[in-house]
Formats: sequence, structure tokens, C-alpha cells
Amino acid sequence: MKVLVVYWHPEPQSFNGAMFRTACETLARPGNEVKTSDLHEMNFNPVSGRNNFTTVNDPNYFKQQTEEMHATEMKGFSADIESEIEKLEWCDLLILQFPLWWFGLPAVLKGWVDRVFAMGRTYGGGQIYEDGVYRGKRVLLSLTTGGPEEGYSEGVARGDMTAILLPIHRSMQFVGFNILAPQLVYGPVRMTDEEREQQLTTYAERLQNISDEPAIITLA
Ligand SMILES: Cc1cc2nc3c(=O)[nH]c(=O)nc-3n(C[C@H](O)[C@H](O)[C@H](O)COP(=O)(O)OP(=O)(O)OC[C@H]3O[C@@H](n4cnc5c(N)ncnc54)[C@H](O)[C@@H]3O)c2cc1C
Repeated sequence: MKVLVVYWHPEPQSFNGAMFRTACETLARPGNEVKTSDLHEMNFNPVSGRNNFTTVNDPNYFKQQTEEMHATEMKGFSADIESEIEKLEWCDLLILQFPLWWFGLPAVLKGWVDRVFAMGRTYGGGQIYEDGVYRGKRVLLSLTTGGPEEGYSEGVARGDMTAILLPIHRSMQFVGFNILAPQLVYGPVRMTDEEREQQLTTYAERLQNISDEPAIITLA
């Protein structure tokens, strides 16, 4: 199994950092290959623009998707985008590791999706959902929250976590991924060291068998 772990947190010693390292260490075993994108360490630029491309389709009016189609044809993606797309094309399993920020992906990781999931190369021309470019691949969202678990159920203020994650899951389905159940750690800051260590152990145990784990949402 080829695994790509894409991670963002501004502090390497964070609990997210520990989750990231747990995934990398657990999955690095015979039969697996692991690649990573540590977006903070890479100083990944999340801002889309002409910097996404080495080619220009229309110099007078910048339309990202048109430039993406042109870059797909002309091999014109910037080096930072090209290398991320190649990692996505390579992997069987994508893991996104992040803290929930404002009920969604933190900006750098959102910017990674905005720039890397490019029209032409990643979707388009009828290649969406069950006909998506990444059909057969699986994605796992691994995230932490500040709020406690009881605050994330239907009918309470923060709302149902399934609904909060739906836009991210839907984006991944759009390009063809099957969706694994998310790995959720609610409020690690409220836990004891022992409880946090138990969370890491539970995650590592899950990852031991991840190659056989069925998706919760399957497209094909
Ligand atoms: C801009 C912004 C928006 C936010 N929006 C939301 C939101 O919409 N909803 C929400 O619920 N929350 C929100 N939060 C809170 C955020 O989601 C949490 O602070 C975050 O998920 C906690 O994860 P962390 O990795 O930052 O934890 P940290 O604070 O880094 O870690 C928690 C504790 O774990 C310890 N730790 C680290 N490594 C280990 C290890 N190996 N073993 C044991 N302990 C360890 C750390 O030392 C620390 O004491 C927001 C925060 C910000 C800044």
C-alpha cells in the first residue's frame, strides 16, 4: 500500500504533530511505502494565482480552471504543485492530518486542495465521482478539535460532526476517493497525558489494519 500523509499544524510538538508521526511510523512497515507533505515544514504557499503555473493561456484575464486545463495539456504546473499532484497520483491511501479550524480545513491545507486538485489533471471532462481520476483510492481525515465530543452531536450548538465534515468528504468524492471513517480526537488539550497517549495507541492500532478497512462511503 502506498500512503501519502498530508499534514498541517504550525507547531511540530503539537498533538497533531504526534498524530502525524504516529501515522508515519506505524505505516512504515514491509509492504508499505509512505510519502509525506508536512505543509508547515515545507512552507507551502496556499495562495492560488499565476504562481500555480509555468505556462500562460490568457495573459489578460486569469481564470484558474482554464489555466489548469492549459497547464495539464502543456505540462505547465509549477514545481510545488506538480510534485504534490504526482504524490496524489502515486498513493493508494491519502491521510489528511489537521486541527479543525473554524469548522473546516485550516487555510494552508484548504489552499493545498485549492491549488493541487487541478481541473484537467484531477477532474473534468466527465471524470468525477465514480468516474473520478482517483477512483479506487481511499482518503482518511484525521483531525482534532478544541470542543468536546458531546458538543458535536445533532441538535447541539456546534452541530453534527458528520455534517461539518461533509463538504470536505464531498470534495474528495468529487475526484473519486472512497471515504474511510474519520479519525477524531475531541479536545486533546482537555485530556491527561495518559489519555492522549491512549488516543495515539488507538490510532496506531487502527492503522495496522487500514489496508483491509472498508470505506464508509464507496463510489464504485
Ligand atoms: C483559528 C482557530 C480556529 C479554531 N476553530 C475550531 C473549531 O471550529 N472547532 C473546534 O472544536 N476547535 C477549534 N479550534 C481549536 C483547535 O481545533 C484545537 O486547539 C486543536 O484541534 C487541538 O489540537 P492541537 O494539535 O493544536 O493540540 P495541542 O494544544 O498542540 O496539544 C494538546 C496537548 O497534547 C500534548 N501532546 C503533544 N504531543 C503529545 C504526545 N505525544 N503524547 C501526549 N500528549 C501530547 C501537548 O503538549 C498539549 O499539552 C480552533 C483553533 C484556532 C487557533
